[in-house]
Amino acid sequence: MLRLYDTRSRRLETVVPAGARAIRVYTCGPTVYRFAHVGNLRSYLLPDLIRRSLDRHRVRPVVCQNITDVGHLVDDEEIDPSGEDKVLQQARREGRSALELARYYEDAFRRDTAALNIRAPEHTPRATETIDLMVELIAKLIEKGHAYAVDDGSVFFDARSFPTYGEISGNRLDALKPGHRVEGVDPRKRFHADWALWKGSDRDMTWETPWGRGFPGWHIECSAMSLRFLGEHIDVHTGGKDLRFPHHEDERAQSNSAVGHDVVKHWVHGEHVLFDGRKMAKSTGNVVLLSDVEAAGLDPLAVRLALMEHRYRQQMNLTWDTLRAADRTLRRWRQRVAEWAESPSAPISAGHAERAQTAFDDDLDTPTALRVVRELERDDAVAPGSRFETFLHLDNVLGLDLSADIGRPPAAPVLPAGAAELLQARGQARDARDWAASDRLRDELAELGVKVVDTPDGQTWS
Ligand code: AMP
Ligand code: ZN
Repeated sequence: MLRLYDTRSRRLETVVPAGARAIRVYTCGPTVYRFAHVGNLRSYLLPDLIRRSLDRHRVRPVVCQNITDVGHLVDDEEIDPSGEDKVLQQARREGRSALELARYYEDAFRRDTAALNIRAPEHTPRATETIDLMVELIAKLIEKGHAYAVDDGSVFFDARSFPTYGEISGNRLDALKPGHRVEGVDPRKRFHADWALWKGSDRDMTWETPWGRGFPGWHIECSAMSLRFLGEHIDVHTGGKDLRFPHHEDERAQSNSAVGHDVVKHWVHGEHVLFDGRKMAKSTGNVVLLSDVEAAGLDPLAVRLALMEHRYRQQMNLTWDTLRAADRTLRRWRQRVAEWAESPSAPISAGHAERAQTAFDDDLDTPTALRVVRELERDDAVAPGSRFETFLHLDNVLGLDLSADIGRPPAAPVLPAGAAELLQARGQARDARDWAASDRLRDELAELGVKVVDTPDGQTWS
């Protein structure tokens, strides 16, 4: 079965379905106020890799991923949420209504994830359409003595009422320092680390509740949706590693306090993507979108391949060079599959398939799985028909559309950017009998993936 690294227990654990043969996976979804970048997309790829790995064991995955279209404040990374709502702020900047903006970026998110062959989750509830679930849950937490309402209609979670707070991230309550805000700790809180479940307000996008008009906090959204759509026993909860604290600690405290036991069995977190050596983030200014990748002439699935070259919990650095290299590999594999499709059919190479799938089951060791695929590509001892079957079989977990070129006339090769100029310069160098320059240019072309051969009629390339 599949084993995953559990952030809370800090060890590898086997994922065993709690009840019937289904695994329930909750994954924190996007705040739909801008395009997802390639770093965000790595976090959304994680549940897809889990899903594909489970499929092979004939275990049915049920995935729920929320769509945050209200309630995520710009300062939610702090434990004390105050400040502006991300969706409302961006809607004002773009001059559209909050819902219009949210739907626009939600559509973009669905297109991007589909282009990466990330299968659609079974449930994708929106925050604005599940307010009643959150209100119900908050009422329950108040009733059980885990939350308290204050005079402006806000409701806070009483952090000290949940003794195991901090088990995911290692941030113990007694060691947490009050935030560094100028205005100091909100005096209505009983304890500085308490957080808002509901914020009293009469701004845009607010709802009536027994406590007054307002909007939900970001953390309560995930508790309410996961309990409603997956139930009180959730096998795996995923997210990017920055969500461990406070988002997942708060969610765990809320959900467990509401039902009286641990709701989530395994907490699994994905590491960050760096681009050119720095964390990909809007604030860093090094964001790459899937549309940028396509505009550069690369297949979006080259991003999927490049991400899988590293295990989900390894930090990884992307560059345009690695993306271009992944694109070349992808195209070569598709072409080889199309060539092998012409050969007599043969059974799959069980040894290769087993090794690749075992790597997947071993905490999603995608780099090892890809190494097996590369070995098989070059292994001439395996009949082409067998390589064909094995590649297609493994594509169920890889999700790279490796059969895309079957039956297509081989595409006329296209030179990568800059190569035409280098070829021309090399032609001139050879005419001038400048062999040193000619060799240097041949090496430069090789780095772009262009192989040059000299013939009596001049140079040719492939
Ligand atoms: P955000 O839109 O900032 O809430 O991020 C959405 C998801 O992407 C969260 O799960 C984050 O942990 C994740 N994330 C943000 N930046 C990166 C990055 N550079 N690499 C990987 N995941 C990221
Ligand atoms: Zn969440």
